[in-house]
Amino acid sequence: MLSYYSTNRRVPEVDLAQALLKGQAGDKGLFLPRPMPRLRPGFLAQARDLAYPDLAAEVLDLFAEGVFSRDDLLAICHDAYDYAVPLEQVAGRRHLLRLDQGPTASFKDFAARFMGRALGRLVKARGGELLVLTATSGDTGSAIAHAFLGVPGIRAVVLFPHDEVSDRQRRQMTTLGGNIQTLALDSKFDDCQALVKQAFADPDLARLSLTSANSINIGRLLPQSVYYIYAAARLADSAAGEEVVFSVPSGNFGDLMGGLLAWRLGLPVARFVVATNANDEVPRFLATGRYEKIVPSLKCISNAMNVGHPSNLARIVDLYGGWLDELGIVKQQPDLAALRRDLHAVSIDDQATRQTIIDTYRDHRTILEPHGAVGWAGLQHFLAAHPEHAATTAISLETAHPAKFPEEIRALLGLDPAVPPSLHGLDGKPETFRRLETDYRAFKEFLLAEYGA
Ligand SMILES: *Cc1c(COP(=O)(O)O)cnc(C)c1O
Repeated sequence: MLSYYSTNRRVPEVDLAQALLKGQAGDKGLFLPRPMPRLRPGFLAQARDLAYPDLAAEVLDLFAEGVFSRDDLLAICHDAYDYAVPLEQVAGRRHLLRLDQGPTASFKDFAARFMGRALGRLVKARGGELLVLTATSGDTGSAIAHAFLGVPGIRAVVLFPHDEVSDRQRRQMTTLGGNIQTLALDSKFDDCQALVKQAFADPDLARLSLTSANSINIGRLLPQSVYYIYAAARLADSAAGEEVVFSVPSGNFGDLMGGLLAWRLGLPVARFVVATNANDEVPRFLATGRYEKIVPSLKCISNAMNVGHPSNLARIVDLYGGWLDELGIVKQQPDLAALRRDLHAVSIDDQATRQTIIDTYRDHRTILEPHGAVGWAGLQHFLAAHPEHAATTAISLETAHPAKFPEEIRALLGLDPAVPPSLHGLDGKPETFRRLETDYRAFKEFLLAEYGA
């Protein structure tokens, strides 16, 4: 029987419904499935021909035993994934997977839209209300706000660092209203995330039925395993065991965790390139074996990756036999040799990010935005270090739409990226958000006053 255990291992295992509804385990650990499911034999041969929503339902079915039926999942996925998932050949065997065609123009839509629908069904079946707390470094907030807007029984609060999100990113979450509240803090994403985590562990707030829509929630990661399988099966002979290289621009490492899950399910992968911006705590950890958070995180143009202490590192360490606790202390070292073999970790600073945007446009007429450029630069770094992979199919993830960062693109390329329909009309809409000091007492009082009645 599939269940979900906590990386801190101090609470009993739960089913997927409990893992989704709790977000974070009661011992402040993060949930992971056990035993790890496997794709059935022959699945990858069929995957090539499946439409995205059908593939998603098949993959998610492996994780949803006893909680959602196949028909539930088909309904959720057809409703959630009604947009394109383009695979672009950039040069030779190097490709770009554009995950930016959803309603908020970032890859966060893949996870948020599944979670909104899945939690909506659970709340409807059980009755009661749910309060979803989310810290955002730029894109999660808008994806969650859009996915949960108007879902009965669910209200959502989004915390964001006021000075580190782009104008369009902010407007995407502050112009909705309804059951969505936004809180602006004069601090960092890591501070927002810490407030939210503290709230989950606070017994005084238990009656609010809190859950997380950050990637501490396993519900964020499962749907993010699907596009790895989708892309690999279309570009390589995955069924025959042909491996691909993925490059993943990373901040909180939820996207990478989706890839690692796909790999454990049985997708043939040669290597994951883990590309961070100047917040390089994970590349350093892999290089030295010593983990040190970056406090405060550095402010880079790939703002959604300005994370100095990524939540999902605890899961990665767990998958490799170690234990990282909620404070960021390594209680047991993971198998570093295996981590170094499987992951090629590299930090790309803002200057290299900008140069990559310029070069990629000049050489291939491909427009990258800062996050995708970090991934693309990471891939070039890997290929330069590993010429034996010159002929391996490589897929770099483009995680946001260039039109979310028009100032940067204009300055670098002298053009305005075409604005997708999802971003139309945003600039003129009225915004509402509240300012909050970065203080747990103030946050708790706010929650009790607004939602405690
Ligand atoms: C959130 C985000 C990332 C980082 O993803 P993680 O799962 O946090 O590693 C990268 N790019 C964009 C555009 C994002 O919004």
